[in-house]
Amino acid sequence: MEGYLHTIIGPMFSGKTSLMLHEMERFSRSGKRVVLFSADNREEHPVVHSKRPIYKGIRVDKTRDPMKILQRGLKYDVIGVDEVQFIDESLVSVLSSLVEQGKVVFASGLDQDYAREPFQTTLKLICESEKVTRLTSVCQKCGSHQAIRNIRKVDSKERVLEGAADIYEVRCRRCGELEDVKR
Ligand SMILES: [Zn+2]
Repeated sequence: MEGYLHTIIGPMFSGKTSLMLHEMERFSRSGKRVVLFSADNREEHPVVHSKRPIYKGIRVDKTRDPMKILQRGLKYDVIGVDEVQFIDESLVSVLSSLVEQGKVVFASGLDQDYAREPFQTTLKLICESEKVTRLTSVCQKCGSHQAIRNIRKVDSKERVLEGAADIYEVRCRRCGELEDVKR
């Protein structure tokens, strides 16, 4: 198989994981060995915490360690990595190396934090990708389908604050002004 890297980015609630799993499931149905490495620790994560696997034939391996992703990924044909913004930048060379060995690799994650600063791991993956898909979300203030910003609703300056609807809101360009952000 000819390897390639497909990176899927966008704000929260934009369907990044769903799109990645949809693409991965196609490979599973054609008989490929498929694994999803998930860095998500949230209790409600639909993939990791589901009693039954939602996507048939996709193994889920919970790790954020690039070296483990490299070692374990070698046993598969198709590899997905979720929430790449939480993972060390060394993930970029790990995924490139898997692609060079003929693997199809999907990476999904946030491109920017709540202060609109890009996540380095995601940025570098974009540069290494044969294919990039950027998704938008529905603005929770005005209903626009072009939401690209993650707005934090709680008062914290910590860059990575894990959570979902309780902590973050997605906003379009017009509604995501800085005065709305609690810093
Ligand atoms: Zn809006």
